[in-house]
Amino acid sequence: MKVTEVRIKLNQTAGRLKAYCSVTFDDVFVIRELKLIDGPNGYFLAMPSKKLEDRCPHCSAKNQVRSHYCNWCGKRLPENRASSDMQGRLRLYADVAHPIKMEFRQMLHDVVMAAYRREKELAETMGENYQPKELWRIEELSNYIRLEEIGKPSDEYLLDEDEKENDSL
Ligand SMILES: [Zn+2]
Repeated sequence: MKVTEVRIKLNQTAGRLKAYCSVTFDDVFVIRELKLIDGPNGYFLAMPSKKLEDRCPHCSAKNQVRSHYCNWCGKRLPENRASSDMQGRLRLYADVAHPIKMEFRQMLHDVVMAAYRREKELAETMGENYQPKELWRIEELSNYIRLEEIGKPSDEYLLDEDEKENDSL
């Protein structure tokens, strides 16, 4: 399976969220709502995710695991229903689509990063006249991907221990 298109929507406001992305595979399948985040260990491509929920012990309605009161019956919910990841952070979201193999994840990251850099370059060179191109065909990115491979390795993939646990959700 190969990436054939990447859409990049730059997030121009300050903060760690740098872009929203969608990726097309083999010209026939799209995954939307990926987020490119400038994290403490470099850029990280966050998969589309949903908030984790569990059921109220009183009425069985679904609530987010961080809620203190049931949205349906209003009764108090048990504390500490969210589990923690290996860094001790509460696990409040679960990926709804994600790569299984590390090599595929790396490839996806490299392709999205290449599209992101090109979109950003465009924004910087055009200044006020910037019109988002957004859609990048893989052919337009190939040189950039090769450059990145020679450049720095994406060390954020060493962090993936906690994501492996996510896979079992
Ligand atoms: Zn309830």
